[in-house]
Amino acid sequence: MSHLQYTSLFFCLTSCLLGQPLQPFPLSQVRLGDGIFKDSMEVNRRVLDEIGVERALYCFRFNAKLPTGDAKPLDSWASPEPGGAFPGFYESHYLSAISLMSAQTGDAKLREQVNYMVAELGKCQQALGGTYLFASPQEEFEPKRLDGVVWYRIHKLMEGLLAAHRHAGNAQALDILNKLATWIDKRMESYGNAFEAVKKVEYGGMTEALENLYAITRNPRHHTMALAWEQRELMLDRFHKHEDFCEHANTLLAKMVGAARVAELGDTDEYHRVACENFWDLVAGSGQKTYATGGTSVHEGMPGLRALANTQSRMAQETCVSYNLLKVTRSLFHLTGEAKYMDYYERCLYNAILGSQDAKTGWKTYYQPLNANTLKDFRSNLTGCYCCNGTGLENPSQYGSTIYAHDDAGLLVNLFIASTVVWPDKGLQLKQITKFPAEPSTALVVQAKPPVALDIAIRVPAWCTKGFAVAVNGAVQNIAAKPGSYAVIKRTWKSGDRIECQLPMEFAKYPMPDKKTQLAFMYGPLVMVGDGARPWLGELVGDLDNPSNWLNKLNTGFTPVKNTSLAFTAIDGAGRELRVKPYYQIGGGQFFTGYWDIVKSSILKDDHNIALGKPTLCSCPDPSGVNVECFMRSGKAVDGQYGGDDDWYVKWFPNGMTPQWITVDLGEARAITGIEWFLTAEDIKDMAAYCYKVESSNDNKTWQSYAENPANTTAAKSFSHQKAVSARYMKLTLLPPVTAKVPPTRPKLAEFKIFGPQASTGSQ
Ligand SMILES: [Zn+2]
Repeated sequence: MSHLQYTSLFFCLTSCLLGQPLQPFPLSQVRLGDGIFKDSMEVNRRVLDEIGVERALYCFRFNAKLPTGDAKPLDSWASPEPGGAFPGFYESHYLSAISLMSAQTGDAKLREQVNYMVAELGKCQQALGGTYLFASPQEEFEPKRLDGVVWYRIHKLMEGLLAAHRHAGNAQALDILNKLATWIDKRMESYGNAFEAVKKVEYGGMTEALENLYAITRNPRHHTMALAWEQRELMLDRFHKHEDFCEHANTLLAKMVGAARVAELGDTDEYHRVACENFWDLVAGSGQKTYATGGTSVHEGMPGLRALANTQSRMAQETCVSYNLLKVTRSLFHLTGEAKYMDYYERCLYNAILGSQDAKTGWKTYYQPLNANTLKDFRSNLTGCYCCNGTGLENPSQYGSTIYAHDDAGLLVNLFIASTVVWPDKGLQLKQITKFPAEPSTALVVQAKPPVALDIAIRVPAWCTKGFAVAVNGAVQNIAAKPGSYAVIKRTWKSGDRIECQLPMEFAKYPMPDKKTQLAFMYGPLVMVGDGARPWLGELVGDLDNPSNWLNKLNTGFTPVKNTSLAFTAIDGAGRELRVKPYYQIGGGQFFTGYWDIVKSSILKDDHNIALGKPTLCSCPDPSGVNVECFMRSGKAVDGQYGGDDDWYVKWFPNGMTPQWITVDLGEARAITGIEWFLTAEDIKDMAAYCYKVESSNDNKTWQSYAENPANTTAAKSFSHQKAVSARYMKLTLLPPVTAKVPPTRPKLAEFKIFGPQASTGSQ
């Protein structure tokens, strides 16, 4: 039998496959095809254009005392000092993002922008003396001046320069970084005994950036510097022994990204690899610290083991943490080739990352709450510029980074994303044609000149427990494949060869690690969330112990909604309909429910609050500036959530002093019988006596008084008024206090309810 005719199919039943370590394909060799990831990438490309190089250069030129031209400074966290606290980090993410995007798209204009930005940064470095370069004065690196987390910020610049070099082929970026590294070396040396104290302040991925530099220069000094930033006794030794360790989650993650890079670049004693594997297992692999989306962090802290139940409203899962978890996961996958890493990677990518960008505005999430009737915390890329906006610029710019990998013998298909990869060394091009996850299949078409013998390994997802199938040129291969491994096809490939994979998706429950009656729904790798706000607040009636109950027969319990992409309905044990759709599809201002509480009988009653989940307008809608609580949107006043332990996270907290107003748009003129508005727990505790007025309107212009209390001196938990009117808009204005009992700060509103008969065709 000639070599060309040799065809056989093997399924790998162990988790290791083609040999190791694996290599990623350069981003420039992977092009996205039409689909949800390309759409998301294009939204982000628009965002990068909106920011522009001149604005990104502003803070560096400002610090170097060079002309800033007509450029307007970026706002909030990225504002130059003394107004802004953290200049430079966001702009550095921008440099990384345009470098990645130029490689992923082949866009020559973006590459020119990279070259221009690097050249201008070079001028800043010269103006600052030839070695130092950043957006803050050097004095901020003094041990007592580290409040501005300047090491965290400068590592982002190092990564930006590395990205310009690696992904956009810019040689000057490496030259600038090498010079900067000499300054960093001296600065680190000068700390002496104070260095351990310096490392107590968030310093981001200094290990990662220096190790990445070492990977290029192979200058042993860079490796030594990278290791100097580690905290072995504090954390790595503990993870090495499979013990837990918690601190600020993103601080911890950035350090682990560095450890993973050290492991990838060849630590001979495997200390770093073992520490990283154990860390990953504690956090992500075992599911003890991660939500269904793959994200983690509670109030920015790393939660303890099995301590997630009821935390999903509490500033849950900062998006930067997911960005960094993916980096650690990618490194471990390349080191070990184990499919479990790609199972997690896919879940985190489709939910916590793809779901972190608003498709209309390109705004990025900071926190990603998953409680009942919640909203995504999207923030502006121009007036917010938070840390997660920065990492968020990079995410869609590198969707192509992990779809494929290879070693000398073969190519791995890790993710089912429409794309084309070229492998010049093998003369191979592989085009993946898929509408996954809208359709549960993918096809791979080979171009090979001349024919080439190699292994193609296709991931069999852990969630694909029934019906995974693969066909080569139409010949179905009837060999069972183990979920959570790779199916390896050994063959001499020729142009036109076509592999087709069936990837049937099923519904599954994803319970909290510490509460099995609190769960999310999965469909394949997708977190399926409740669509819209409901008066029953994430409560579902069902019996988890009864095998015949709908909750245990989800694949028949959920019915696809016609003419939608991946929307389903189900009826709970109380006869109530829930409609679910993928978390990634949720945009700005859309209410959804991530986790559900399963109860045997309903305790919640619909109180005919017709304001629930309706659109709101308010006196200060934009989450920006110093409004650090901007995840508290005005929609939080109509989410049905108030009181209790989570009161803080579900209120409207406008960014300004009284008077502040909120208007609920009922969509059409509705019969109204009364209103009630609720104070927050802390205002009730403080015996706050709010003054307020309520007005009604049918055109949002002419207002009629509904109720007034402009000189109130009485504290109350809520205020209610009954009066029959017909109106489309209802407006509540919180007025300046007439007594000293109201805290002289910003007003707070826990909930604004409007009562009336449900509309006969309403969306409630
Ligand atoms: Zn962040």
